[in-house]
Amino acid sequence: MAQRSPGEQLTMRIIDLSQPVFNDCPNCPAHPPVQIDIIDSHASGAAETWHMERLTFASHTGSHVDAPLHKLPNGKSLDDIPLDRWQGPARIFDFRGIPARHPISADLLNERLPRGSSIHDMFILLATGWGWKRTKSQEWLHDAPFLTQDGAAWLVEHNARGVGIDHWSIGDAATHATLLARPVLIVEELHFPPEVFALEGPLEFWALPIHLRAHSGAPCRPVLVIRDQA
Ligand SMILES: [Zn+2]
Repeated sequence: MAQRSPGEQLTMRIIDLSQPVFNDCPNCPAHPPVQIDIIDSHASGAAETWHMERLTFASHTGSHVDAPLHKLPNGKSLDDIPLDRWQGPARIFDFRGIPARHPISADLLNERLPRGSSIHDMFILLATGWGWKRTKSQEWLHDAPFLTQDGAAWLVEHNARGVGIDHWSIGDAATHATLLARPVLIVEELHFPPEVFALEGPLEFWALPIHLRAHSGAPCRPVLVIRDQA
């Protein structure tokens, strides 16, 4: 913590990196459709009214985290991962403009790493631009760029704490298994507002999962925290 002189104030700003969850929102096509039912409403006409929704969707819906259990039998669940592992310094790797279905390999990651810098214990956030295409289109559902297994191994070798991507999946089963065996924690379905690309890294990233007991993953609210001295 920096020393503060009397009267000096620390101001904080949050940049939201999440995707919204709503009825029939885009999601992994292998999962059940997202269903939100309004089960109580002020329109009910009752003497005293409430508004409430019932949520029916897979635990890996919207912006969410993957625990090792998601891919690895006997892997750690959310309960086994200290909450503070889900925050830390982050770098955004800017892959905007990358073609559909393009593999994000170890070589590509190496190219994006600023010379002489480290990713030790950091989150690497892969910005492909697919977060801006989020509809149930063929392109968004099936043609996203993806992290290759050798890209996953590169993150393991470089001791990354986690990896995020602006799509419903970081990559295939082998990519998930390679990341989660360490584990390099996974955050999926990010959304990058354009302003983040003007920020100097490393950035302060938080993606706290909601408290679902022994689950393989959970929705989270991924954010960047910007702290300025005023
Ligand atoms: Zn997931």
